[in-house]
Amino acid sequence: MKIRVAGITQDSIVDGKGLRFVVFTQGCPHRCKGCHNPETHTLYGGKMMEVEEVIAQMDANPLCDGLTLSGGEPFFQQFACAEIAKAAKARGMNVWCYTGYTLQQLEKHVPNADVLLREVDVLVDGRYVQELRSLELDYRGSTNQRVIDMNAYRETGEITLLYK
Ligand code: SF4
Repeated sequence: MKIRVAGITQDSIVDGKGLRFVVFTQGCPHRCKGCHNPETHTLYGGKMMEVEEVIAQMDANPLCDGLTLSGGEPFFQQFACAEIAKAAKARGMNVWCYTGYTLQQLEKHVPNADVLLREVDVLVDGRYVQELRSLELDYRGSTNQRVIDMNAYRETGEITLLYK
């Protein structure tokens, strides 16, 4: 299976808790004003990679605590992202995923979102809203975005936020 990738960062400390292997997927429909990664919007940019190639790069960096899927919009390529997420979990890594959709939109309106959603431990959801930008927030850019504990959500049905 192939994935269109905007870039890979091997050792990020800003895209989730701990040291993280980050896959920036290419292609995003949200077009948020003030987006920091506008080069990821087009579906024709970035480069095509085999999922196995991405996983091999992850394997070459055993110090990472987790995988972060970011964008772009990971739910545009949910099948390939799910394969990478499964490989990360099999290696004992946790999985964070950034999305411009809200959790409710993913559940109700995005076909096959569950394929990736069920592999995600922490979901940072919602579009970036420039008017709600804050530098005080942990792991997100605007106050509407939420850092959701997906394991707690699956267990209780209630949305538990990891950072206020
Ligand atoms: S969802 Fe993220 S990548 Fe997409 S436009 Fe918004 S800020 Fe940019």
